[in-house]
Amino acid sequence: MTLTATSSNLIPADLQSAKIDSHRPLLIVDVDEVLALFMAGFQRFVERHGFEMRLTKFALFQNIYAKGEDNHIDMLVGKTLFDDFFMSGGKDMDPAPGAADALANLSNQAGIVILTNAPEHGRDERARWLKRHGMDYPLVINSGLKGPAAANLAARTQKASAFIDDLLPNLSSVAADAPQVKTFQMVADPRLRPLAPSDPDNHTRIDDWTLLHPALEQHFT
Ligand SMILES: [Mg+2]
Repeated sequence: MTLTATSSNLIPADLQSAKIDSHRPLLIVDVDEVLALFMAGFQRFVERHGFEMRLTKFALFQNIYAKGEDNHIDMLVGKTLFDDFFMSGGKDMDPAPGAADALANLSNQAGIVILTNAPEHGRDERARWLKRHGMDYPLVINSGLKGPAAANLAARTQKASAFIDDLLPNLSSVAADAPQVKTFQMVADPRLRPLAPSDPDNHTRIDDWTLLHPALEQHFT
């Protein structure tokens, strides 16, 4: 990630170049399992490479097996598949139902920034995927917990902000670093929904864009 030095800290270039209108609400939204059916796409990709996925945990590599094996693949094999998927696997991945329409609609009311933890080498593939599926909004590539990036973005508007992610650590991180941001948890893959840790007292859980859309509209009104 390119870093730009300022007097007090280092701000990633993506954050600096994201234009935020201080007079509009702001939606900060994750990609994998929110806008994109990541696990289903990754499953197709690993199966084309001779592996199989048995979805029993809210985890990644621990669900992937060499065909017929009892033990899941090791981290190194998993990391290679993961890196290759982000480099070239976009065609295997479908958008979450209703996501593009909801964002298009919400963009009349709020600014939209996509905040993803895709690896930097997957930037072009990710940008192409978003464009192909009608979600061509400012893209911020993050690494690690999302609280600092969300706080940076949300501090630039006087209006309401919201953040959507599937992962509880990211939601907790945003709640801690930017408590004015309303947090929503969404898990797009129905198979992962019962496996995903959640904290509904602190982060509103809505797994369907047809329901999440009106909740966001209401929050921004
Ligand atoms: Mg995600």
